[in-house]
Amino acid sequence: MAEKRDYYEVLGVEKNASAEEIKKAYRKKAIQYHPDKNPGDKEAEEKFKEAAEAYEVLSDPQKRQRYDQFGMAGMQGAGGFSGGGMSMEDIFSHFGDIFEGAGFDLGDLFGGGGRSRGPRVRRGSDMRVKVHLTLEEIATGCEKKIKVRKLVQCKDCNGTGSADGRTETCPTCKGSGRTVRQQRGIFGMMQVQSECETCGGEGTVIKNRCPKCGGQGVIRDEEIISITIPAGVAGGMQLTVPGKGNAAPRGGVNGDLLVLIEEEEHKDFVRQDSDLIYNLLLDMPTAVLGGQVQIPTLTGDVKITITPGTQPGKVLRMRGKGLPRIDQYGRNYGTGDLLINVGVYIPEKLSKDERKLIEQLQNSPNIAPGSADKKNFFKNLFGI
Ligand SMILES: [Zn+2]
Ligand SMILES: [Zn+2]
Repeated sequence: MAEKRDYYEVLGVEKNASAEEIKKAYRKKAIQYHPDKNPGDKEAEEKFKEAAEAYEVLSDPQKRQRYDQFGMAGMQGAGGFSGGGMSMEDIFSHFGDIFEGAGFDLGDLFGGGGRSRGPRVRRGSDMRVKVHLTLEEIATGCEKKIKVRKLVQCKDCNGTGSADGRTETCPTCKGSGRTVRQQRGIFGMMQVQSECETCGGEGTVIKNRCPKCGGQGVIRDEEIISITIPAGVAGGMQLTVPGKGNAAPRGGVNGDLLVLIEEEEHKDFVRQDSDLIYNLLLDMPTAVLGGQVQIPTLTGDVKITITPGTQPGKVLRMRGKGLPRIDQYGRNYGTGDLLINVGVYIPEKLSKDERKLIEQLQNSPNIAPGSADKKNFFKNLFGI
């Protein structure tokens, strides 16, 4: 994705602009780049969308504050997906009011997008998929390709549902997608609007249906979708990939792909938020004498030093060897730690010779704990 411009710059306002100034500035841009004024102009469309995105943030006091504080990074949704641009339909359904009095008939152009005028645009349903991630993948972020079986546009008819590419204006509603009937109410006769049953509200009908899709404009097929997983996600999080859900019948708007993150169990580590826990069981002589031991990390094995007299229950901390920390908006704020729980293994089976050695130790002066040792040990281990 291209680098985004500063939202204030997009709207051409000062950082301390009032809500009213921001609204005015957006209205000006939105009218200037309106698709109705710039038919087929991709650049104008991008500018139109850019302005809407800027307005969406700056018109909402909470989002504006977050943007002022954290910049673009603060605008990423959980995992950096949800803020990923607005569709034309979103723009008109959210900010349609801005054009009132500007002389545009939005209903005709965009099917209303939630407004009541004109035929409605169908939206494909959202799809849910799960992705399984290892801790290694979560640590770095990754690209996952998944095969999804879903409704896609029928290639034979380019999604129109028509075998000959022709659609006709619905004879029942004359293209409006709505029918009006008279109904007697308590104040006399009333007009009641409802969705046209002949065309299902689309305003057009197909005479010659595409044989492949039966006139639906969509067929069930497999698609390989590449999903960008940001670093630091956790099991149970859901990412949204806009427009990658089911296609809508006859040229509507695609649904979204909702990606549920599932975490695979790791052979060495247990995750605790952004920290990783590793259990290290030392042999008795190493705990007593100290030494070097090898432990795994997500980026490869490392050697750590055990100081002489290391007690069981001690927790060693390797800073920055955990997982990236992200907040609910997907902003990264550092990295967790690797916590090493130290245990000491007391051997259960001994040979004759080993038994002799231990027996010799037993009566040696420094082996038995003193009362201070006892106190410290339990205090360190259990805090009491
Ligand atoms: Zn077809
Ligand atoms: Zn109709």
